[in-house]
This record gives sequence, structure tokens and C-alpha cells, in this order.
Amino acid sequence: MTDRARLGILGGGQLARMLSVAASRVGVATHVYSDQAAAPARHVASRFTHGDYLDPAALDRFAESVDVVTYEFENLPVEAVRQLERQRPVRPGSVPLSVCQDRLVEKRWLNDRGLPTVTWAAVDGQEDLAPAVATVGLPAVLKTRRMGYDGKGQVRIESPEEADAAWAAIGGQAAVLEKYVDLAYELSVIVARDGGGEVVSFDPGMNEHSEGILRVTRVPADAPAAIVDAARQAAETIVGAFDYVGVMGIEYFVTAGGELLVNEMAPRVHNSGHWSQNGCVVDQFEQHVRAVMGLPLGSGRRYADVVMTNLIGSDVLSLDKWLREPNAAVHLYGKAEVRAGRKMGHVNVVAPLAGNRQ
Ligand code: ADP
Ligand code: MG
Repeated sequence: MTDRARLGILGGGQLARMLSVAASRVGVATHVYSDQAAAPARHVASRFTHGDYLDPAALDRFAESVDVVTYEFENLPVEAVRQLERQRPVRPGSVPLSVCQDRLVEKRWLNDRGLPTVTWAAVDGQEDLAPAVATVGLPAVLKTRRMGYDGKGQVRIESPEEADAAWAAIGGQAAVLEKYVDLAYELSVIVARDGGGEVVSFDPGMNEHSEGILRVTRVPADAPAAIVDAARQAAETIVGAFDYVGVMGIEYFVTAGGELLVNEMAPRVHNSGHWSQNGCVVDQFEQHVRAVMGLPLGSGRRYADVVMTNLIGSDVLSLDKWLREPNAAVHLYGKAEVRAGRKMGHVNVVAPLAGNRQ
């Protein structure tokens, strides 16, 4: 079929893999471009290119081969996206990417729009660290401005003497110092916006992390309606402010004092939205494809309660157990090598909506 709409995806990880599967359901062919030869999306994408994100000629050929471009992770060179934007619609574009890939720019952007975050201070060089500690207070967490994910590039500081070691541990890179807040729980909202400005959000999920990595997301979130509604409302404000097209994942902290803070924004589908694959008719992946390809959005309505558990590292060895579980849907990413801390897949365990249980 040559007349299928073609979506180019920068990045070839599990998110590109699940986007490709979803795209195929609505008649969209995907062309995945990744700098990893063994990318998880390779075996399900309609077409795959192994290339460098800073190879203008290869990116040019990629743009030529598709109708619309999207990306599945934020640690991409923004120049690559700007180049593609000159040739094809890139949704979401380079602006949300450049804001979300830098923790300092991201926090300023949020605070400038009246959205509260943890107390933070910029740390451009080692000499900024002591004043930042004085401003923010301890305990704190020093995070690299760029390239962090799954808790990487972050070090906690409990006492002033630990500051220099923390600076060394993050490799002496430009950073942000954040107050380490006492968390009651963490929430996230997966929200979609289409080119006409229609916004649909999924029910907020409640997230459990350990060692900086998401382990479990539960829907519905066991949180007061006022907090859940405020999180959803903030997400809708954020996508509107970006004039965003596509799906975005927004992570929140709820402090022990009941304050809702925005932790971070991901300009893409998000791990904490994987529950939607088995809880909704149109999941976050298809929703993203629909938004960026100009197709009508799904409703976002949830038809089941879901507990999503990530299979991290050797967790995947318990696959047989999950396959025998009657209410569990297994989603594997096709990664050959099991490594500690590596996301290998996830499982969605579904139950009838609480209100419908006998
Ligand atoms: P990543 O980009 O790696 O997801 P996050 O900034 O979201 O980084 O941090 C990962 C997790 O670490 C958070 O979801 C939370 O559980 C914990 N964490 C990070 N920053 C703070 C903080 N300032 N206070 C309390 N917990 C934090
Ligand atoms: Mg995070």
C-alpha cells in the first residue's frame, strides 16, 4: 500500500515500538530513525533507518520519506528537530523539546506561567553550589540540566560537606539544585491536544518509583478529587500554553502538606500512561498518532481499573508467572540483553471499574 500516511519517529526505543503498533491499527505506516542498530522498534516499524541524529543528509532523506515527524524521547539534539521542521510538520515541535530537555529552562517556563515546582536554584558551576544550598535548603537533590532519565544524573545532598562530592558525581555539568521534598505520593497526567486545539486527558495515575525508576502506576489514583482535578487542569493549561500537538506526560509531586507541584514534563508518550493500553479503547500511543496525523482524538475514557508494573532487569524472568495470570496483559520490548535497571517490558493487570464490581 503506497498511499498510507507515513509517520516518521525519531528514536527507536519501546515507545517508538508501541507507537508503531498503534499506528498500524489506524492505517499509518511508521519510519523509525534511531542511532541504535538494535532498537526495540526495528522489528515492528514499517521502515527503519540506523543513523546519527547529527547527520543532516540522512535526516534529509528521512524527512523526504514521511508526511509528519514526531519523536519518542527528549534527549535528542534540538538542531535535528529544527532541520526536520524546515521540511515537514514536526509534532510536537522543537519548542516543547527544547523546554523539556533542560530542567532549568523547564522550571523557569513552569514558574513563569504560575505553575508551582519544588524550590530550586541554578548551578552553572561549582562556585554556585554553596549559595544554591543556602537558598534551597537541605536535604536537596542535584540534577544535571540535561540528559537525565530514570533517576540518572541525580545525587542527593544531605549535609553541606556532601556538596562537592555530589558535583563530582554528576560529572561537573550544569545542574539544578532542587529541594528534596517530603512526598505523600506522585501523580501523572497523560494529555493529548490536536491541531484544532481540542484537549483530552486520561485519568491521572498514581506512581511508585524506587531508585528514580518508575515501578508501578495505578489508576484510579487514590487521591482527593480536588488534587486529581487540579493535576488534570494544570496539564490542560500546559499543552495549551505550548500550542502543543500530540501526547504529553506530566509528572507531579504531592507533598506531605498536600501541595501539588509539577515535577517534570515529557513531550511524548510516557511510561506512566502504559496502563491505557488495557484500560481504554484508544490508548496513549494511538492517541498520539491520531493527534499528530490530524485524525480525530479518542475519548480518553477508562473502562477498567489497572495496575501497571514495569518489568525491570531480571523481573522479566518471571514472565511465565505473568503469562499464567488471567487478568494480566504482557507487553515486552524485544530487548535481547537483560541488564539491571533496564526496562524490559511491563504488565497491565486489569479489574472491572471499582463501581462495577459485584
Ligand atoms: P527522571 O527524569 O529521571 O524521571 P525525576 O526528576 O522525575 O527524574 O526524578 C525521579 C524520581 O526521583 C521522582 O519521580 C521522585 O520519586 C524522586 N525525586 C526526584 N526529585 C525529587 C525531589 N526534589 N524531592 C523528592 N523526590 C524526588
Ligand atoms: Mg521523572
